[in-house]
Amino acid sequence: MAVIIDGKKISQQIKDELKEKVSALKAEGKTGALAVIQVGADPASSVYVRNKKNACAYIGIESLAYELPEETTEEELLHLIQELNEKEKVRGILVQLPLPGHICQEKVIQAISPEKDVDGFHPESVGNMTIGAPGFLSCTPAGIIQLLKRSDIEIAGKHCVVVGRSNIVGKPMALLMLRENATVTVTHSRTRNLPEICRQADILIVAVGKPQFIGAEYVKEGAAVIDVGIHRDENNKLCGDVKFDEVMPRASAITPVPGGVGPMTIAMLMNNCVQSIEEGR
Ligand code: NDP
Repeated sequence: MAVIIDGKKISQQIKDELKEKVSALKAEGKTGALAVIQVGADPASSVYVRNKKNACAYIGIESLAYELPEETTEEELLHLIQELNEKEKVRGILVQLPLPGHICQEKVIQAISPEKDVDGFHPESVGNMTIGAPGFLSCTPAGIIQLLKRSDIEIAGKHCVVVGRSNIVGKPMALLMLRENATVTVTHSRTRNLPEICRQADILIVAVGKPQFIGAEYVKEGAAVIDVGIHRDENNKLCGDVKFDEVMPRASAITPVPGGVGPMTIAMLMNNCVQSIEEGR
């Protein structure tokens, strides 16, 4: 029977550590704010934005909210980002995704100064992560590394299979596991024999974006299973990409949904903000 990895508890530990760090930085005169931009009023995005603002308040950094109407033009948004890039007090800029269809996401991501790219999505941040140079790490994958380390799950030498290759989860996840000396296999929608490949994993990280896709037949006895997915099932209950009840008896450790990876993403965003204030980058 698997140990349930408590992402809520671990993220709380991280936020408490960051809170102490923020007050030490304040004593040295180092402060800064996170600018959070939301375009439109998508209810899920509003929840994420609120959680990010609350996390800022908890660790003691200022958040500046920019709630823009749905019809905001790309030009207006790029102009705001440019202003925030130039504002010294702003140490981090976050644009809540997804953006409305008339705004090009890539253009917006690339407009954020890499020095303030606390989401770690800018190509320069991704490049730095790839070569192991300093820079902001993508929050969800960095949070998963912390979950594993703080749960005493050894990574070096283990075979890690990542299901999914998106730019925000799968790819950076694979790179970070490689950096931690895992042997990494990345799988995607064109992968053949997916269950067989997944069954080779000591650590199985699932970011397939399909509710309850991974059942027991994908999991080796004793594997650690990390579920990145977030969905609402037919009863409006939150669920992940993994069939939790079916997989738990086979795994040695597993993350629940909710309360697994989700809270870690925000904790790592806060970590990036504090890093930015500390380095005065
Ligand atoms: P995407 O939809 O961008 O990517 C899904 C990936 O899964 C793609 O690479 C796709 O392959 C692959 N895939 C799709 N179908 C299959 C299949 N049948 N077999 C194997 N691979 C397949 O999703 P994201 O990476 O953005 O997100 C994944 C999940 O994680 C979502 O549920 C999302 O809501 C959640 N999420 C959670 C976060 C958190 O904080 N907990 C943060 C970010 C995301 P291909 O490339 O070939 O199309």
